[in-house]
Amino acid sequence: MKRIFTILLAGISLITSAQERCGAEAHAKNMMNNNPSYAIARDKVNAQTEKWIENNPNHSEKTIITIPVVVHVVWETNTQNISDAQILSQIDVLNEDFRRTNVDQINTPNVWTSIATDSEIEFCLATTDPNGNTTTGIERTQTTHGEFGMDSDIHTASAGGADDWPNDDYLNIWVCNIQSGLLGYASPPSNWVGDGDGLVIGYRYFGRTGTLQSPYNKGRTVTHEVGHWLNLDHVWGAWGSCGNDQVADTPKQETENYSCPAFPLNPNACSTTNANGDMFMNYMDYTNDACMNLFTNGQKDRMLAAINLYRSNMVTNNCDGSVGISEQKNNKKKLIKIVDVLGRTSTEKQTNTPLFYIYDNGSVEKKIIIE
Ligand SMILES: [Zn+2]
Repeated sequence: MKRIFTILLAGISLITSAQERCGAEAHAKNMMNNNPSYAIARDKVNAQTEKWIENNPNHSEKTIITIPVVVHVVWETNTQNISDAQILSQIDVLNEDFRRTNVDQINTPNVWTSIATDSEIEFCLATTDPNGNTTTGIERTQTTHGEFGMDSDIHTASAGGADDWPNDDYLNIWVCNIQSGLLGYASPPSNWVGDGDGLVIGYRYFGRTGTLQSPYNKGRTVTHEVGHWLNLDHVWGAWGSCGNDQVADTPKQETENYSCPAFPLNPNACSTTNANGDMFMNYMDYTNDACMNLFTNGQKDRMLAAINLYRSNMVTNNCDGSVGISEQKNNKKKLIKIVDVLGRTSTEKQTNTPLFYIYDNGSVEKKIIIE
């Protein structure tokens, strides 16, 4: 009897580890069912992305892009109302993973260290809200909604969620009691993205300190979902096995991996001659948080294309600048002059270099026009 019980327990733990790590594809399928032309819009995004990468071969020399983040904590129980420390720990994880300063980068197999990349993207909690007021970048909303699924409730205050901040200026992240079996999901860029653009993450999978559930307790769910938000697909490709993730330097892979496999895994997958097998430690696989440690150069290209093409305010916004200040308020100040980093007078026509815009109200904005 005791023996059977043990076997049953092992079965249960297997099911737990096979939890749906990410709902991004299911979310995209929902969008396609509700909007027949969504698929066409996404195809267009991918074609434009390819073209942008082709036309911007040297973009890897660009200055760091900083993305202002607003975290909407939508809570019902005190446990769901996660601490500021937990939220800050997630911002730290994002900065480490996207700048490749994560300590576990030493676990990247040698065969891939040359393509494992610093994406040159950083994240900060917003310091200015959409009305131009000072903010912590953390908004807390009490709800009686219960679990949140993949519908619009989470980003609708009247439905028990929290309204989004303008998605041209902020990365919106909702942290909530997400439907069981799901860790999080995100919306990729497209013309269909309006309200609700951003990430929705279960409160137990956010950050690396506080209320967390192993093995998804190191903040990598959010790293993965920001990848989707910046137009990355899963490493095994979209829609089925041995698919195409539209990134040249990630090996072809049959399907997702869970747990924490040993390298090499599945050599010659999908009838290739790739002896190194699956890149299961890529952030865009489904392995445990502790076993993920890289984005590749090809993935960085797609993410930078996504920012420049579809989230272009993020190229110039940052948490010390004018993010979220309304047009009306912006219009009140007059540009006096533009100077470069050496203080020389410049013009808006100068591209690919940081410029400082000096205004008559004493404010200065740093901008880079990337071409
Ligand atoms: Zn995913």
